Amino acid sequence: MLGQMQYLPLTLSSILEHVEASSPDVPIWSRQAPPKLGEQGPIHRQTWRDTGQRARRLAQALVDLGIGESDRVASIAWNTHRHLELYYAATGIGAVLHTINPRLSIDHLQFMINQADDRIVFFDGTFSGLIAMLKPMCPRVEYWFQMSNAPQDPMWTEPGYEDLLDGAAPIAAWPSLDEQAAAILCYTSGTTGNPKGVLYSHRALVLEAMVAVGPAVLSISRDDTVAPIVPMFHVNAWSLPFAAAISGASLALPGASLSGDALFDFFEETKTTLSAGVPTVWQALLGHLRKTGTKFTTMKRTIIGGSAVSEAMIRAFRTDYGVEVMHGWGMTETSPLGTISALTPSEIASLDADDAVRRLKQQGRAPFGVSLKVTDSGGAQSSGGENIVGSLKVRGHWVIDRHFGADEPATRDGWFDTGDIASIGPDSCMTITDRDKDLIKSGGEWISSVHLEDIAKRHPDVVDAAAIAVPHPKWDERPLLVCVCAGGKDTNSEEIRALFSQSVPSWQVPDLTFVDQLPIGATGKVLKNELRQRFADFHAS
Ligand code: ADP
Repeated sequence: MLGQMQYLPLTLSSILEHVEASSPDVPIWSRQAPPKLGEQGPIHRQTWRDTGQRARRLAQALVDLGIGESDRVASIAWNTHRHLELYYAATGIGAVLHTINPRLSIDHLQFMINQADDRIVFFDGTFSGLIAMLKPMCPRVEYWFQMSNAPQDPMWTEPGYEDLLDGAAPIAAWPSLDEQAAAILCYTSGTTGNPKGVLYSHRALVLEAMVAVGPAVLSISRDDTVAPIVPMFHVNAWSLPFAAAISGASLALPGASLSGDALFDFFEETKTTLSAGVPTVWQALLGHLRKTGTKFTTMKRTIIGGSAVSEAMIRAFRTDYGVEVMHGWGMTETSPLGTISALTPSEIASLDADDAVRRLKQQGRAPFGVSLKVTDSGGAQSSGGENIVGSLKVRGHWVIDRHFGADEPATRDGWFDTGDIASIGPDSCMTITDRDKDLIKSGGEWISSVHLEDIAKRHPDVVDAAAIAVPHPKWDERPLLVCVCAGGKDTNSEEIRALFSQSVPSWQVPDLTFVDQLPIGATGKVLKNELRQRFADFHAS
């Protein structure tokens, strides 16, 4: 017997309709392109009502151009109100929005645009040089539209984004779509081989955002101004454009200005309460705060994810700046919400600072909708409690089934192997030990690079650190800590070594080398492959 309740498909347009009806006057803040390079652009303000109206005009413009269900419409753009409108407009008419990471190599960019069969590319003016290179490589793209407010480069004969909107009436009604239909396509960053596409369905994104807003995860409310610093070209800015709309929160979109000082000004001007980004971005922001002695006046919480967060960063946010930390783990393939470590109000009140940091360093619990297990090389498995460290596998409503264009499924027995090594404690909290390809095996014993990096970052002068395996004639591999250090090599190396001697057995103490900066990839993570190549001969005699 079937239930007898109404069936309404879970589509992204239903989220927009909801926020237009329930919170029409809540503002969307958006940093515009600067008038001149190196300057700050003004902050544009519109409401969710305006966003809905403009998205409807853009949707009609797309329909007028012949875009229909399943057609791919791409964006190469920063976090702005226009990109937000495109999120809802393209997906609302059943087209697939392909969000492209402009930091990938030109080869990967042209591969993705061609594999996805994009018919239109919307791009921010800052990328017009890149687009000029891409255009001849992507002959099947029919239109290239510039999104910025800045005067259009004369080389572009096509209308600009605002011209498209001006020329179209708002679409009368959003079409009814299958909730399983594809909505957004996002590629992984392809550190080995070509990037792989992940095709999110409406249903997956709606369910994920509905779960994300609740108190077990991010606890977003109408009191919040949410600033996703994580780009809208990387895993849907962690679904915050949808989660904010579901909860009637304000959104603050920082545009292209992501330096520590620009972000601080932006948070203050927009009265941001909740921000989200990868550790590299927060490192720059904390550096700015320390240098200037400034403090946030409205920011209460920050979501940190994408790579392991250090104890030092958690302490800095909580103790020095009164910002509560939420630590998330996820992947492009998990839309990305996989787990979250966030303290409840009673835990915030009762845990002492050290216990709170220990809890927040873990990657946390899976929310409803995601299941986890770890399996070790002997076949033992655990979903929590048993003392097993092994491959982390996930399944759930917003976990990948198959990569875009792939013949084989991405899962085995319904589980997706994440490539991470982890354990799940008796309290059901998951801890990542490492990515399997980043683990270090010295003299037959495993060493966690994440653990070594965390120890190094306890030293106040260590700005950043990456631990990698380098070949060694006797031990096969030895850990090498590549360090960026404010105080310079001579003053700090003994102190850093001492930190390790106090914390790990001697065979785990890494060798040290100092660099001016670490290579950072397209999603803000350290490129350990590059470091491994660069230091491959470290122990060559
Ligand atoms: P890519 O970096 O290849 O584009 P993703 O952005 O999907 O891919 O990265 C997912 C990976 O990032 C995870 O498998 C994990 O190794 C790492 N990661 C994400 N969040 C965390 C976290 N909170 N702690 C540790 N590692 C993390």
